[in-house]
Amino acid sequence: MNKIKSGAKKVGQFLRKNIYYVLIFCCVAAIATMFTVAMVQQNRDETPVINQKPDLDDNNDDNQNQDGNNDNDDNDNNDNDNDEQTPPQKITFINPVEDAVVGKEFSMDALVWSSTLKQYMTHSGVDFMAEEGTAVVAVYGGTVESVTNDTLNGLTVTVNHGNGLKTIYGSLGESKVEVGQTLTQGQQIGTVSDSCLAESADGSHLHFEVNLNGEITDPYEYLTVSEK
Ligand SMILES: [Zn+2]
Repeated sequence: MNKIKSGAKKVGQFLRKNIYYVLIFCCVAAIATMFTVAMVQQNRDETPVINQKPDLDDNNDDNQNQDGNNDNDDNDNNDNDNDEQTPPQKITFINPVEDAVVGKEFSMDALVWSSTLKQYMTHSGVDFMAEEGTAVVAVYGGTVESVTNDTLNGLTVTVNHGNGLKTIYGSLGESKVEVGQTLTQGQQIGTVSDSCLAESADGSHLHFEVNLNGEITDPYEYLTVSEK
């Protein structure tokens, strides 16, 4: 019994000692874990340049990009606003033929029927229908660049308004201007007729074209024609 008692006592002591060691080990392990975590955390805090900063930077970059895009959008909007806020620079034409009725419309994206050539084709200008002999005037101030006459387009006057902008007056009956002549807005260029063979079936009219930087342009970018 004594042996058992002493054995149990030893076991108890051993367990107590073990528990004590286990507790110490647990404490040490816990402290070590806390230290490790703290160190890692500290390392993260201390070395954000390597570990965290890139992520943050990426996020910041993303945010900045988004902000940047927003800023750009804002800038674009501002630019647009600025563009819209500078109408004085916008050129506005007067009608090349007073009291004219618009016949064939400008149509470079869609084909329109040509009753003269009996086929669908684009129309590079606006046709102003009027009695033969009706005055054709300069829609804006400029210089007469050319006066040409060929059977297909008829008598044609081209006026250069500067900055790449030109107006072309086709199917004229007669020309009242000379090459190099300076024109003021509203000054007569010629008269309406059906000299344009390509559009002769449409009757007497002015075939009016706008050319910007060498490209055919929608005349309604500059015209404010209301009557048709
Ligand atoms: Zn035409």
